[in-house]
Amino acid sequence: ELSGEAAKAWLTVFSDRVAAGVDELTDLDRRAGDGDFGWNIGSALERARAGLDDDDRTGENPARVFQTVSDAFLASGGTSGPLFGLWFGRLGAGPERPWSVVDLGAAFGTATEAVRRLGGAEVGHKTMVDAMVPATDALTSGTSDTWREAVAEAARAARAGADSTGGMIARRGRASYLGERAQDVLDPGAVAVAWFFEAAEDV
Ligand code: ADP
Ligand code: MG
Ligand code: MG
Repeated sequence: ELSGEAAKAWLTVFSDRVAAGVDELTDLDRRAGDGDFGWNIGSALERARAGLDDDDRTGENPARVFQTVSDAFLASGGTSGPLFGLWFGRLGAGPERPWSVVDLGAAFGTATEAVRRLGGAEVGHKTMVDAMVPATDALTSGTSDTWREAVAEAARAARAGADSTGGMIARRGRASYLGERAQDVLDPGAVAVAWFFEAAEDV
């Protein structure tokens, strides 16, 4: 089961990964958008970490951890702020106890569906949804017995989804204004989602 402490460690590794890769995300968004994505997600995750440190009850359950991260994203800019805020917010509405593999699938299922509705993006539109949907499908349809295996499978699916955005013509977000000119660029939101699932491997 995924404990609150493990969820907290997961988010810490993710935030370190984004901090180390912030220039890469900035560069992708510069080529396919307005160049602020690295700052938007980096500052949100810094705020999330401060929130996790300030609240000595965040280790109690994963939902509380994800809710703290949601609050940080909702206070951040860009299109990605409210979308990640909603994603983590739905996870934050999950059970207030350690999560089973079934709990994980249900929580990510609800969260990803909410993002799909709010942003109106489907798989193939070159957004974060291209990584979220396959990762969520892996979590809900997987046969893993442990949360680590389940999330590792989700990470592989998210990575493949993020990679698939290279070659897509964007249908949502700023990259859609660039059409074929941004076709070769990976979607930074999808890359960040892959990093999120991959971060669990180092917990
Ligand atoms: P902005 O375009 O406002 O500067 P950000 O740079 O914060 O937005 O975030 C860009 C990311 O947001 C993109 O890489 C993409 O993954 C995601 N995105 C943009 N529009 C949508 C949408 N309608 N649905 C889902 N994700 C989206
Ligand atoms: Mg941007
Ligand atoms: Mg912007």
